[in-house]
Amino acid sequence: MEEFYTIQGEGYHAGKATYFVRLGGCDVGCHWCDVKESWDEANHPRVTVDKIVENAAQYPGKAVVVTGGEPLMHNLDYLTTQLQNRGIKTFIETSGAYPLSGSWDWICLSPKKFKAPKWEVIEAANELKVVVFNKSDFLWAEEHAKLVSADCKLYLQPEWSKSSLIAPLIVEYVKENPKWEISLQIHKYLNVP
Ligand code: SF4
Repeated sequence: MEEFYTIQGEGYHAGKATYFVRLGGCDVGCHWCDVKESWDEANHPRVTVDKIVENAAQYPGKAVVVTGGEPLMHNLDYLTTQLQNRGIKTFIETSGAYPLSGSWDWICLSPKKFKAPKWEVIEAANELKVVVFNKSDFLWAEEHAKLVSADCKLYLQPEWSKSSLIAPLIVEYVKENPKWEISLQIHKYLNVP
């Protein structure tokens, strides 16, 4: 769908220079999705994986975030192996709704209520990032925190359109439950893609 060099705005790697590869296609159906234009894969040009790797390798920030859409709708084995062969770290942002493919240096699982994550992605996650849209999402976040590995990082992130309402609740929640940390979409505050 698009590729661009920017600053990772969310989660564990927030603040780092990163090349983003956004793949078309998603059928998870989050009503608050901020990239609905990604949903229909057919609306986006096909690009060879070798070209993506060449593009990414031009930049000094040696890390690629593969996102979407739901990137695991595609087999990501070749892309990630080629990136790692060039000394580029591979990070993924996924809802976990599709089988895990690819060789990853970091897996960010952001599960969605609309399509449950696969067990193989839950087990492999380095980071659990739950987007909080309403109060009931705290309980839902805890249910998923019980499933991930013991060393998985835990983040609560306010849904952007309700951020002013939800962020204060997250602040209080994290103060009471310090195993969680706050993830803010700092790229939106910085006005970078
Ligand atoms: S999983 Fe991501 S891309 Fe798909 S609908 Fe939800 S927020 Fe949008």
